[in-house]
Amino acid sequence: MSTWRPPIIGTCSIEGCEAQLRYNVKRKGTVCHYHARQEVASRPERNAKIARTVKAQLADPNVLSARSRRISEARTKQLRENPELMRQAQEQMRAVGKANGGSANWSAETRAAARRKQRARKLADIPMEYRDEYTALCRRHNLSAPEARRIIRDQVDRDLARYIETGKLQQTTGG
Ligand SMILES: [Zn+2]
Repeated sequence: MSTWRPPIIGTCSIEGCEAQLRYNVKRKGTVCHYHARQEVASRPERNAKIARTVKAQLADPNVLSARSRRISEARTKQLRENPELMRQAQEQMRAVGKANGGSANWSAETRAAARRKQRARKLADIPMEYRDEYTALCRRHNLSAPEARRIIRDQVDRDLARYIETGKLQQTTGG
């Protein structure tokens, strides 16, 4: 067990407070935990407003999907640029996989969830409400992924242009 702690980089900037601040990459201010909490607690309306905005944004599946794509892309980049980190991550994933008995032992639900996740990742740049259409183009009309993607993108552009022009938000169904 390591007893290492981040170095002390200063003291709380609130007058009279002697609390020491340790280095933390996520640190945004120059006050201690206690005073940071006090500052947050002192503006309930503003916090409630921020919470409402964030909740509304996260309720939009497209925002959620774009967000998870950003996170996963950042992680991929990080792993690609750091072979040692990649090796560690692979080791971890192997250990977790082994502990769970490997994918052969997955339940039907887990499989379905994994499929949904993979699909969402693959379709991250296609708006939620166009994804079934995209899948139909690939399956029923036997189009390649890039072709189907182009058709969907055209549809989205058209629908958007019409929305801007007429104020009517309506999805074209090509199918
Ligand atoms: Zn303080």
